[in-house]
Amino acid sequence: MAELLIAVDFDGTITMRDTLHVIVDAHGRPGVWDELEPALRAGEITVEQAMEQQFATVTAPHDQVIDLVLSHAGVRDGFPELVAWAEANDHRLVVMSAGFRCVIDEVLDGLGAGHLEVVANDAVFTHDGCTLVWSEDRGDPCEICGRRCKRHAIHERFDGDRLVYVGDGISDRCASLLADVVFARAGLAEWLDEEGVGYIPYGDFHDVLRWLKNDPDVAEAA
Ligand SMILES: [Mg+2]
Ligand SMILES: [Zn+2]
Repeated sequence: MAELLIAVDFDGTITMRDTLHVIVDAHGRPGVWDELEPALRAGEITVEQAMEQQFATVTAPHDQVIDLVLSHAGVRDGFPELVAWAEANDHRLVVMSAGFRCVIDEVLDGLGAGHLEVVANDAVFTHDGCTLVWSEDRGDPCEICGRRCKRHAIHERFDGDRLVYVGDGISDRCASLLADVVFARAGLAEWLDEEGVGYIPYGDFHDVLRWLKNDPDVAEAA
């Protein structure tokens, strides 16, 4: 049996909406991103610095942020089924996110998947503003995008037969180029189209699971 490393993005993939957008829209200072964007585009600040300044304006405590995410982000169908199948067949499933562990863990808990390995940054939410905590598992800047993207974490974990990647956005670009099988939707699918890289479109995780079960290279354990 081919052993898979199944790497799954979180925001907009496991959730229907990007939790960072949901949090900033509800609790951030309106217009802060528009103020930061010229400096970001001019290269005067990094994406990380822009995010730190944006989230510093989010003045809601942890519990309020979690309640908001659980009620407004939504989850894509079929994720618990994919997790159960992966575990029954000895495949390794890792959630890889450019977002925040404290939010991800709560959403996964609600899906009965709180035990999964999560690679992510983190955030501390308080009344006085939110402080971001960057993951130490990001390695050196990536040779493709120049940022500390998900390639490093994948390289560190991938020693199986095949890499499967499931994603939707910019943070998934470099990682998807490493994968043997890419499931893509939204912005990631558009980018792969432009790059001429093949992928499998998906609507939910039932689609992903159906494809993997029918893949002759992924023989199921009895
Ligand atoms: Mg995403
Ligand atoms: Zn990269």
